[in-house]
Amino acid sequence: MKRTLNYIGGDWCEPESGEWTANDNPARPGETVGLVARSTEGDVKRAVDAAAEAFASWRDLPGAKRGKVLDAAARLLEERADAIAEIMTREMGKTFAEARGEVLRGSAILKFYGGEGERANGDHIPPADGKSLLYTRRIPLGVVGLITPWNFPVAIPVWKLAPALAYGNTVVLKPAGNASVTAGLLVEALVDAGVPAGVLNLVHGSGSVTGNALLEHPRLAAVSFTGSNAVGKEIALKASSRGIKYQLEMGGKNAVIVMEDADLDQAAELVVSGSMKSTGQKCTATSKVIVMRSIAGTFTEKLLERLRRIRVGDGMDPETYFGPVATPSAQLSVLAHIRKAQDEGAKLLLGGGTANRDGCFVEPTLFAGVTPAMSIAREEIFGPVLALMEADSLEAAISMANDTEFGLSAAIFTNSLSNTMAFVSRIEAGMVKVNAETAGVEYQAPFGGLKQSSSNSREQGRAAMDFFTHIQTISLSI
Ligand code: NAP
Ligand code: MG
Repeated sequence: MKRTLNYIGGDWCEPESGEWTANDNPARPGETVGLVARSTEGDVKRAVDAAAEAFASWRDLPGAKRGKVLDAAARLLEERADAIAEIMTREMGKTFAEARGEVLRGSAILKFYGGEGERANGDHIPPADGKSLLYTRRIPLGVVGLITPWNFPVAIPVWKLAPALAYGNTVVLKPAGNASVTAGLLVEALVDAGVPAGVLNLVHGSGSVTGNALLEHPRLAAVSFTGSNAVGKEIALKASSRGIKYQLEMGGKNAVIVMEDADLDQAAELVVSGSMKSTGQKCTATSKVIVMRSIAGTFTEKLLERLRRIRVGDGMDPETYFGPVATPSAQLSVLAHIRKAQDEGAKLLLGGGTANRDGCFVEPTLFAGVTPAMSIAREEIFGPVLALMEADSLEAAISMANDTEFGLSAAIFTNSLSNTMAFVSRIEAGMVKVNAETAGVEYQAPFGGLKQSSSNSREQGRAAMDFFTHIQTISLSI
């Protein structure tokens, strides 16, 4: 059985505990994909110490040289895309096509940040005396801890570690337990690409032990987290009490509004892919669709026609549209949300069950008659469940879309410029789409949410520099 080791100070090593966790395939009960190191506080301590020791020499390397390592890792990920994607599919369930696309995205992100070390990163500011040199530059933070979720086991770690390393930080990565075999392959590509010892470290294990030990290490300078709001809040409290920088990307309850003047076939197509691809387990997945009442009947038919065609199955089968949810507990949680929606009076139009299969499957599920007070209109479900709501005006639809603690992503389907502009100016979301699905982000642009979806910072694009560096102001007189 493949063992997924820690990587600390340039060595692949077993955990101090000598204990391992078996990661099973959610599509095939009983099939173990790999054994993952169960780390102790001591493992985490050694990892942060190694990162602290490696910091000065990595920081002092010219940016172009750091970039060369990222470029080489990008090439290796591309070469290994099929092998990594297969493990991802077997470990957390998404289809092979989506998994492969994600690995290639990881490669593109590494390439993008590979160039960052050669781009301008400061300002020249006119000094008061007119002759001294007043300028700013970006300096790295030090040792950065990355805590990541399982739903994008390559892309999310990469969109944190690539800018962290490009700007001269050293890294300790704590990936999600149930996607750690995949994370191990990602780190292997960076190691094979020549990342120096101590610059990138990997510690597996549970959030409560490993994640917590990371946050408590005195040499940790910052933490970047993606995951649930509950864990995010705990991390924010710990980080702020220690005075270290933190960044959180968390949940969403992403709405789509469909206007009368929209291309309804396009809208139905993109609502289905936005809500159902990756089994609805994207933070930007479409979760509720608010349709103008006059077209609700027609639009519902178009949705149903497409949802009925969805094939649920093992993500390795090329005919599969979506695979299982990631774990047995995720399946229980999604099924509980479905029952709650029924208890609260939402009307189940399609799905709601486990597709009569062994494994963590949930059918494509559509609810109609959803009102703003129901929990299905407000809570993140993280599964293939879509709530259909009706509104009489754009104004009312925008209020319904905004009526949630989250503010990650939102979309409108319309051919009217005035509808578009009204939506763009009033919607409370960090990511705003017009005639496009709520899911999907471009790595070269800033990414993040408003309200409880994020901690008021942005990832990806050049915006990542704001989190992973400090601004230093230099005044030079002679
Ligand atoms: P999660 O339970 O919050 O876990 C995220 C990470 O935090 C995992 O590595 C987890 O470790 C770790 N963790 C758990 N408890 C911890 C603690 N007490 N201290 C430190 N670390 C701890 O989230 P998830 O269930 O993996 O992911 C789903 C959530 O992520 C959803 O809410 C989704 O919306 C959100 N998400 C947001 C974005 C975004 O960019 N906004 C993107 C993707 C997903 P273990 O694996 O050991 O539990
Ligand atoms: Mg969790």
